[in-house]
Amino acid sequence: NKNLDDMKNNKIIAVANQKGGVGKTTTAINLSAALAQKGKKVLLIDSDPQGNSSSGVGVSVDKSLPNLYHAYSESCNVYNTISSTSTKKLSIIPSNIDLVAVEIELIELPEREYRLKRILKTIQPGFDFLIIDCPPSLGLLTINALTSADSVLIPMQCEYFAMEGLAQLVNTIRSVKKNFNKDLFIEGLLLTMFDKRNNLTHQVAGEIKKYFKDQLFKTTIPRNVRLSESPSHGKTIFDYDSKSTGAKSYMQLTTEFLKRQRTFK
Ligand code: ADP
Ligand code: MG
Repeated sequence: NKNLDDMKNNKIIAVANQKGGVGKTTTAINLSAALAQKGKKVLLIDSDPQGNSSSGVGVSVDKSLPNLYHAYSESCNVYNTISSTSTKKLSIIPSNIDLVAVEIELIELPEREYRLKRILKTIQPGFDFLIIDCPPSLGLLTINALTSADSVLIPMQCEYFAMEGLAQLVNTIRSVKKNFNKDLFIEGLLLTMFDKRNNLTHQVAGEIKKYFKDQLFKTTIPRNVRLSESPSHGKTIFDYDSKSTGAKSYMQLTTEFLKRQRTFK
């Protein structure tokens, strides 16, 4: 008499941090692509109206392409919002600026925090991992992502005020756990644009490690110019330059990520 949740064999991960420019999109795209390369079936969900993960995997969202906004507003079946990408086994629900309307339209609706969870329910059995790229805010789009997710992955830069921003995010996660999603947990913190020659980097990294312990990924992502170039070509780092340190770092992260899945189960 098992219930459906017990039999669930896929995982939804929200990539979140209310700070912009910390590497959420870069991480969402390249973790998704690396998982796909390792044979997992992956759905990337672009939940940022800026649409950077969509363009980053080469999907341009013109007016006619069904996207996440249509799924939220129920003007389109969610199955029809899924696009394929040039990476085998990697699909995407793209977004564009229309998605900003969701934050306004949802305010009126009952159970507004559960909309994305309900949208994903019917499609999630078809994937091993669903990765949600969140916008740089803690508004309804991010709350919906955290409410649908099993876990949250937090990319961050080792900057002076990093810990303050992190405290705010951790509070939001705590509040979502309490109110909407009691099983939500932190998948891990990922240090991005890591500069090991910088003293401040080591100070901040040390502080994060002290507080978050094993939740901090051992893998760090260095600053790498190839990573910043690849989105403008609509390519993942593996299609753009698979030999770059950026590609190697994201592959290493993915290996560490998958290893952790085994120890958790
Ligand atoms: P977010 O989604 O959190 O706003 P992005 O992933 O879009 O952050 O990254 C912000 C900018 O930094 C983008 O221009 C991106 O290409 C660049 N970037 C991200 N990670 C790296 C990295 N490891 N090395 C160099 N540039 C990076
Ligand atoms: Mg982004």
